[in-house]
Amino acid sequence: MNRFWNPLVAQLSPYVPGEQPSMVDLVKLNTNENPYGPSPRVLNAIHSATHNGLRLYPDPTALHLRCAAATHFGLAPEQVFAGNGSDEVLAFVFLGLLKHEGRPLLFPDISYSFYPVYCGLFGIDYRTVPLADSPVLSLQLTDYTEPHGGIIFPNPNAPTGRAVSRADIQQLLERTPDAVVVVDEAYIDFGGESAVPLIDRFPNLLVVQTLSKSRSLAGLRVGLAMGQPHLIECLVRIKDSFNSYPLDQLAIVGAAAALQDTAYFETTRQAVIQSREKLTLELTRLGFDVLPSAANFIFARHPDRDAATLAKRLRDEKIIVRHFATPRIDQFLRITIGTDEQCAILVNTLERLLA
Ligand SMILES: *Cc1c(COP(=O)(O)O)cnc(C)c1O
Repeated sequence: MNRFWNPLVAQLSPYVPGEQPSMVDLVKLNTNENPYGPSPRVLNAIHSATHNGLRLYPDPTALHLRCAAATHFGLAPEQVFAGNGSDEVLAFVFLGLLKHEGRPLLFPDISYSFYPVYCGLFGIDYRTVPLADSPVLSLQLTDYTEPHGGIIFPNPNAPTGRAVSRADIQQLLERTPDAVVVVDEAYIDFGGESAVPLIDRFPNLLVVQTLSKSRSLAGLRVGLAMGQPHLIECLVRIKDSFNSYPLDQLAIVGAAAALQDTAYFETTRQAVIQSREKLTLELTRLGFDVLPSAANFIFARHPDRDAATLAKRLRDEKIIVRHFATPRIDQFLRITIGTDEQCAILVNTLERLLA
Protein backbone atom coordinates (compact mmCIF):
# COMPACT_ATOMS: atom_id res chain seq x y z
CA MET A 1 0.00 0.00 0.00
CA ASN A 2 2.99 2.33 -0.12
CA ARG A 3 1.56 3.68 -3.37
CA PHE A 4 -0.09 6.17 -0.98
CA TRP A 5 3.27 7.31 0.35
CA ASN A 6 5.34 10.26 -0.65
CA PRO A 7 8.04 8.39 -2.65
CA LEU A 8 10.72 9.88 -0.39
CA VAL A 9 9.37 7.85 2.53
CA ALA A 10 10.19 4.53 0.87
CA GLN A 11 13.79 5.73 0.45
CA LEU A 12 14.33 6.57 4.13
CA SER A 13 16.46 4.44 6.46
CA PRO A 14 15.06 5.52 9.83
CA TYR A 15 17.10 5.64 13.02
CA VAL A 16 16.81 2.55 15.22
CA PRO A 17 16.59 3.61 18.88
CA GLY A 18 18.25 1.47 21.55
CA GLU A 19 15.93 -1.13 22.99
CA GLN A 20 13.59 -0.25 25.89
CA PRO A 21 12.77 -3.76 27.13
CA SER A 22 9.76 -4.30 29.37
CA MET A 23 11.52 -7.07 31.34
CA VAL A 24 11.91 -6.28 35.02
CA ASP A 25 15.05 -6.68 37.19
CA LEU A 26 17.18 -5.88 34.20
CA VAL A 27 20.57 -4.17 34.39
CA LYS A 28 19.94 -1.72 31.57
CA LEU A 29 23.22 -0.28 30.30
CA ASN A 30 22.35 0.20 26.62
CA THR A 31 20.98 3.73 26.02
CA ASN A 32 23.10 6.05 28.18
CA GLU A 33 20.34 7.07 30.53
CA ASN A 34 21.34 8.44 33.92
CA PRO A 35 21.07 5.85 36.73
CA TYR A 36 20.00 8.54 39.20
CA GLY A 37 16.57 10.11 38.98
CA PRO A 38 16.06 13.76 38.14
CA SER A 39 16.35 16.43 40.85
CA PRO A 40 13.42 16.41 43.31
CA ARG A 41 12.94 20.07 42.36
CA VAL A 42 12.01 18.92 38.86
CA LEU A 43 9.24 16.71 40.20
CA ASN A 44 7.94 19.52 42.42
CA ALA A 45 7.87 21.99 39.54
CA ILE A 46 6.04 19.51 37.30
CA HIS A 47 3.56 18.69 40.05
CA SER A 48 2.77 22.38 40.62
CA ALA A 49 2.29 22.94 36.90
CA THR A 50 -0.33 20.19 36.65
CA HIS A 51 -2.77 22.21 38.81
CA ASN A 52 -3.49 25.02 36.45
CA GLY A 53 -0.82 24.70 33.80
CA LEU A 54 -2.41 22.32 31.35
CA ARG A 55 -5.62 24.08 30.30
CA LEU A 56 -3.79 26.79 28.36
CA TYR A 57 -1.29 26.50 25.53
CA PRO A 58 2.29 26.73 26.77
CA ASP A 59 4.49 29.72 25.98
CA PRO A 60 5.59 29.04 22.37
CA THR A 61 8.98 30.66 23.08
CA ALA A 62 9.60 28.65 26.30
CA LEU A 63 11.07 31.85 27.74
CA HIS A 64 11.12 30.59 31.33
CA LEU A 65 13.32 27.65 30.31
CA ARG A 66 15.49 29.74 27.98
CA CYS A 67 16.13 32.23 30.81
CA ALA A 68 17.13 29.40 33.16
CA ALA A 69 19.48 28.04 30.49
CA ALA A 70 20.89 31.51 29.76
CA THR A 71 21.66 31.99 33.46
CA HIS A 72 23.29 28.57 33.74
CA PHE A 73 25.46 29.04 30.65
CA GLY A 74 26.23 32.77 30.99
CA LEU A 75 24.35 33.67 27.79
CA ALA A 76 21.43 35.91 26.84
CA PRO A 77 17.99 34.28 26.30
CA GLU A 78 18.24 35.32 22.62
CA GLN A 79 21.21 32.96 22.34
CA VAL A 80 19.19 29.91 23.42
CA PHE A 81 16.71 27.75 21.49
CA ALA A 82 14.69 24.98 23.16
CA GLY A 83 13.16 21.96 21.45
CA ASN A 84 11.53 18.59 22.04
CA GLY A 85 14.71 16.66 22.78
CA SER A 86 17.97 17.46 21.08
CA ASP A 87 16.97 15.07 18.32
CA GLU A 88 14.30 17.56 17.27
CA VAL A 89 16.71 20.47 17.72
CA LEU A 90 19.23 18.64 15.51
CA ALA A 91 16.56 18.04 12.86
CA PHE A 92 15.93 21.80 12.68
CA VAL A 93 19.68 22.45 12.59
CA PHE A 94 20.22 20.05 9.68
CA LEU A 95 17.34 21.56 7.72
CA GLY A 96 18.09 25.20 8.49
CA LEU A 97 21.87 25.47 8.78
CA LEU A 98 23.58 22.43 7.27
CA LYS A 99 21.94 22.07 3.83
CA HIS A 100 23.85 23.96 1.14
CA GLU A 101 23.64 23.11 -2.55
CA GLY A 102 26.95 21.84 -3.92
CA ARG A 103 28.73 21.90 -0.55
CA PRO A 104 28.50 18.64 1.40
CA LEU A 105 28.10 18.41 5.14
CA LEU A 106 31.00 16.69 6.94
CA PHE A 107 30.82 14.47 10.01
CA PRO A 108 32.86 11.56 11.44
CA ASP A 109 32.42 8.08 9.93
CA ILE A 110 31.81 6.75 13.44
CA SER A 111 29.43 9.06 15.22
CA TYR A 112 25.81 9.56 16.20
CA SER A 113 23.89 7.38 13.76
CA PHE A 114 21.02 9.86 13.51
CA TYR A 115 23.13 12.28 11.39
CA PRO A 116 22.90 10.32 8.12
CA VAL A 117 19.19 9.75 8.81
CA TYR A 118 18.50 13.51 8.87
CA CYS A 119 20.53 13.86 5.68
CA GLY A 120 18.24 11.30 4.05
CA LEU A 121 15.10 13.02 5.29
CA PHE A 122 16.14 16.49 4.17
CA GLY A 123 18.12 15.54 1.04
CA ILE A 124 21.43 16.81 2.39
CA ASP A 125 24.61 15.78 0.59
CA TYR A 126 27.24 14.59 3.09
CA ARG A 127 30.69 13.02 3.36
CA THR A 128 32.08 11.20 6.34
CA VAL A 129 35.62 11.79 7.59
CA PRO A 130 37.27 8.69 9.09
CA LEU A 131 38.26 8.77 12.75
CA ALA A 132 42.04 8.42 13.08
CA ASP A 133 43.63 5.07 13.93
CA SER A 134 46.13 6.62 16.31
CA PRO A 135 45.04 7.13 18.99
CA VAL A 136 42.45 4.45 18.24
CA LEU A 137 39.18 5.93 16.89
CA SER A 138 40.09 9.54 17.74
CA LEU A 139 38.44 12.56 16.18
CA GLN A 140 41.09 14.77 14.51
CA LEU A 141 39.52 18.08 13.55
CA THR A 142 42.57 18.90 11.39
CA ASP A 143 41.33 16.18 8.99
CA TYR A 144 38.29 18.32 8.04
CA THR A 145 40.00 19.92 5.06
CA GLU A 146 37.80 19.15 2.04
CA PRO A 147 35.38 21.83 0.82
CA HIS A 148 32.12 21.69 2.76
CA GLY A 149 28.91 23.48 3.70
CA GLY A 150 29.04 22.66 7.42
CA ILE A 151 30.54 20.35 10.03
CA ILE A 152 28.85 18.49 12.88
CA PHE A 153 30.34 16.17 15.47
CA PRO A 154 29.49 15.06 19.00
CA ASN A 155 31.89 16.08 21.77
CA PRO A 156 32.55 13.74 23.50
CA ASN A 157 32.03 11.57 20.44
CA ALA A 158 29.46 8.79 20.51
CA PRO A 159 29.87 5.87 20.72
CA THR A 160 33.62 6.16 21.40
CA GLY A 161 33.42 8.50 24.42
CA ARG A 162 36.56 10.36 23.39
CA ALA A 163 36.57 14.16 23.69
CA VAL A 164 38.32 16.91 21.73
CA SER A 165 39.64 20.04 23.45
CA ARG A 166 38.10 23.50 23.28
CA ALA A 167 41.39 24.73 21.80
CA ASP A 168 41.04 22.28 18.88
CA ILE A 169 37.44 23.42 18.30
CA GLN A 170 38.54 27.05 18.38
CA GLN A 171 41.19 26.36 15.72
CA LEU A 172 38.58 24.61 13.56
CA LEU A 173 36.27 27.62 13.89
CA GLU A 174 39.11 29.96 12.89
CA ARG A 175 39.80 27.85 9.77
CA THR A 176 36.07 27.64 8.91
CA PRO A 177 34.61 31.16 8.91
CA ASP A 178 32.18 30.49 6.04
CA ALA A 179 30.25 27.49 7.34
CA VAL A 180 28.43 26.54 10.50
CA VAL A 181 30.19 24.22 12.94
CA VAL A 182 27.77 22.31 15.20
CA VAL A 183 29.09 20.71 18.39
CA ASP A 184 26.64 18.12 19.75
CA GLU A 185 27.42 18.17 23.48
CA ALA A 186 25.00 15.46 24.63
CA TYR A 187 27.65 14.09 27.03
CA ILE A 188 29.71 17.19 27.79
CA ASP A 189 28.84 17.34 31.51
CA PHE A 190 30.65 14.05 32.18
CA GLY A 191 34.11 15.44 31.56
CA GLY A 192 34.48 17.37 28.28
CA GLU A 193 35.27 21.06 27.70
CA SER A 194 32.16 22.83 26.45
CA ALA A 195 32.41 25.12 23.42
CA VAL A 196 29.77 27.47 24.91
CA PRO A 197 32.41 30.04 26.03
CA LEU A 198 33.39 30.46 22.34
CA ILE A 199 29.88 31.49 21.24
CA ASP A 200 30.38 35.24 21.60
CA ARG A 201 33.50 35.15 19.40
CA PHE A 202 32.29 32.88 16.60
CA PRO A 203 29.15 33.72 14.59
CA ASN A 204 29.33 30.26 12.96
CA LEU A 205 29.31 28.17 16.16
CA LEU A 206 26.20 26.34 17.34
CA VAL A 207 26.30 24.16 20.48
CA VAL A 208 23.55 21.57 21.03
CA GLN A 209 22.89 20.04 24.45
CA THR A 210 20.27 17.76 25.95
CA LEU A 211 18.72 17.30 29.39
CA SER A 212 18.35 13.57 28.69
CA LYS A 213 21.71 12.44 30.02
CA SER A 214 23.38 14.59 32.68
CA ARG A 215 20.00 15.92 33.95
CA SER A 216 18.37 12.49 33.90
CA LEU A 217 15.34 13.67 31.91
CA ALA A 218 15.32 11.43 28.84
CA GLY A 219 11.59 10.90 29.33
CA LEU A 220 10.76 14.62 29.39
CA ARG A 221 12.27 15.38 25.93
CA VAL A 222 14.14 18.67 26.21
CA GLY A 223 17.10 19.79 24.10
CA LEU A 224 18.83 23.15 23.65
CA ALA A 225 20.78 24.92 20.94
CA MET A 226 23.05 27.82 21.81
CA GLY A 227 24.66 30.30 19.47
CA GLN A 228 24.51 33.90 18.30
CA PRO A 229 20.98 35.27 17.72
CA HIS A 230 21.10 35.00 13.90
CA LEU A 231 21.53 31.21 14.20
CA ILE A 232 18.82 30.92 16.88
CA GLU A 233 16.41 32.93 14.73
CA CYS A 234 16.85 30.39 11.92
CA LEU A 235 15.74 27.60 14.25
CA VAL A 236 12.79 29.63 15.54
CA ARG A 237 11.60 30.20 11.96
CA ILE A 238 11.64 26.45 11.33
CA LYS A 239 9.92 25.68 14.63
CA ASP A 240 7.16 28.16 13.87
CA SER A 241 6.68 26.60 10.44
CA PHE A 242 6.34 23.12 11.92
CA ASN A 243 4.96 23.15 15.47
CA SER A 244 4.82 26.31 17.57
CA TYR A 245 4.66 24.36 20.84
CA PRO A 246 7.31 21.64 20.76
CA LEU A 247 7.69 21.84 24.55
CA ASP A 248 4.70 21.27 26.76
CA GLN A 249 4.22 23.19 30.00
CA LEU A 250 5.52 20.33 32.16
CA ALA A 251 8.71 20.08 30.10
CA ILE A 252 9.29 23.84 30.30
CA VAL A 253 9.03 24.05 34.09
CA GLY A 254 10.71 20.70 34.74
CA ALA A 255 13.72 21.46 32.56
CA ALA A 256 14.11 24.95 34.06
CA ALA A 257 14.08 23.48 37.58
CA ALA A 258 16.72 20.93 36.55
CA LEU A 259 19.02 23.67 35.28
CA GLN A 260 18.55 25.61 38.51
CA ASP A 261 19.45 22.74 40.85
CA THR A 262 23.22 23.04 40.59
CA ALA A 263 23.95 21.09 43.79
CA TYR A 264 22.02 17.98 42.69
CA PHE A 265 23.57 18.19 39.22
CA GLU A 266 27.10 18.32 40.65
CA THR A 267 26.55 15.39 43.03
CA THR A 268 25.02 13.06 40.44
CA ARG A 269 27.44 13.82 37.64
CA GLN A 270 30.44 13.35 39.97
CA ALA A 271 28.96 10.01 41.04
CA VAL A 272 28.73 8.90 37.39
CA ILE A 273 32.29 10.08 36.69
CA GLN A 274 33.64 8.18 39.70
CA SER A 275 31.78 5.00 38.74
CA ARG A 276 33.16 5.32 35.22
CA GLU A 277 36.75 5.53 36.45
CA LYS A 278 36.20 2.54 38.72
CA LEU A 279 34.54 0.46 35.99
CA THR A 280 37.34 1.34 33.55
CA LEU A 281 39.92 -0.04 36.01
CA GLU A 282 37.89 -3.20 36.63
CA LEU A 283 37.35 -3.95 32.95
CA THR A 284 41.03 -3.30 32.24
CA ARG A 285 41.84 -5.83 34.96
CA LEU A 286 39.61 -8.34 33.09
CA GLY A 287 41.66 -7.82 29.94
CA PHE A 288 39.47 -5.30 28.09
CA ASP A 289 40.88 -2.39 26.09
CA VAL A 290 38.82 0.56 27.28
CA LEU A 291 38.93 3.83 25.32
CA PRO A 292 39.41 6.86 27.59
CA SER A 293 35.89 8.20 28.09
CA ALA A 294 34.64 11.69 28.94
CA ALA A 295 31.02 10.50 28.70
CA ASN A 296 28.56 8.46 30.80
CA PHE A 297 29.46 5.30 28.91
CA ILE A 298 32.60 3.43 27.98
CA PHE A 299 33.59 1.81 24.71
CA ALA A 300 35.53 -1.39 25.28
CA ARG A 301 36.73 -4.51 23.47
CA HIS A 302 38.20 -7.76 24.64
CA PRO A 303 41.11 -9.03 22.51
CA ASP A 304 39.98 -12.69 22.68
CA ARG A 305 36.20 -12.46 22.80
CA ASP A 306 33.74 -11.68 20.02
CA ALA A 307 31.75 -8.62 21.06
CA ALA A 308 28.39 -9.75 19.62
CA THR A 309 28.67 -13.08 21.44
CA LEU A 310 29.62 -11.37 24.66
CA ALA A 311 26.64 -9.00 24.35
CA LYS A 312 24.36 -12.01 23.83
CA ARG A 313 25.78 -13.83 26.87
CA LEU A 314 25.29 -10.71 28.99
CA ARG A 315 21.72 -10.46 27.79
CA ASP A 316 21.10 -14.06 28.92
CA GLU A 317 22.23 -12.81 32.34
CA LYS A 318 19.76 -9.88 32.12
CA ILE A 319 22.43 -7.27 31.47
CA ILE A 320 21.85 -5.20 28.35
CA VAL A 321 24.72 -3.33 26.67
CA ARG A 322 24.89 -1.89 23.15
CA HIS A 323 26.67 -3.60 20.30
CA PHE A 324 26.89 -2.01 16.84
CA ALA A 325 27.27 -4.42 13.90
CA THR A 326 29.13 -1.67 12.05
CA PRO A 327 32.52 -1.86 10.29
CA ARG A 328 35.50 -0.78 12.47
CA ILE A 329 33.56 -0.98 15.75
CA ASP A 330 31.91 -4.41 15.63
CA GLN A 331 34.34 -5.77 18.24
CA PHE A 332 33.42 -3.08 20.78
CA LEU A 333 30.69 -2.90 23.38
CA ARG A 334 29.22 0.41 24.50
CA ILE A 335 28.38 0.20 28.17
CA THR A 336 26.40 2.88 29.98
CA ILE A 337 27.67 3.81 33.44
CA GLY A 338 25.08 2.60 35.94
CA THR A 339 25.10 2.82 39.71
CA ASP A 340 28.10 1.28 41.48
CA GLU A 341 25.87 -1.68 42.27
CA GLN A 342 24.97 -2.19 38.59
CA CYS A 343 28.63 -1.84 37.60
CA ALA A 344 29.56 -4.50 40.18
CA ILE A 345 26.94 -6.91 38.78
CA LEU A 346 28.38 -6.33 35.31
CA VAL A 347 31.97 -6.91 36.43
CA ASN A 348 31.11 -10.08 38.39
CA THR A 349 29.14 -11.47 35.47
CA LEU A 350 31.89 -10.70 32.96
CA GLU A 351 34.45 -12.29 35.25
CA ARG A 352 32.37 -15.47 35.23
CA LEU A 353 31.73 -15.40 31.47
CA LEU A 354 35.42 -14.89 30.70
CA ALA A 355 36.65 -17.60 33.06
C1 LIG B 1 21.37 11.01 23.28
C2 LIG B 1 21.95 11.84 22.17
C3 LIG B 1 21.20 12.83 21.54
C4 LIG B 1 19.71 12.96 21.71
O1 LIG B 1 19.28 13.33 22.89
P1 LIG B 1 17.73 13.68 23.13
O2 LIG B 1 17.80 15.05 23.69
O3 LIG B 1 17.26 12.66 24.09
O4 LIG B 1 16.99 13.64 21.83
C5 LIG B 1 21.81 13.66 20.63
N1 LIG B 1 23.09 13.48 20.27
C6 LIG B 1 23.83 12.49 20.80
C7 LIG B 1 25.25 12.32 20.37
C8 LIG B 1 23.27 11.64 21.76
O5 LIG B 1 23.99 10.62 22.23
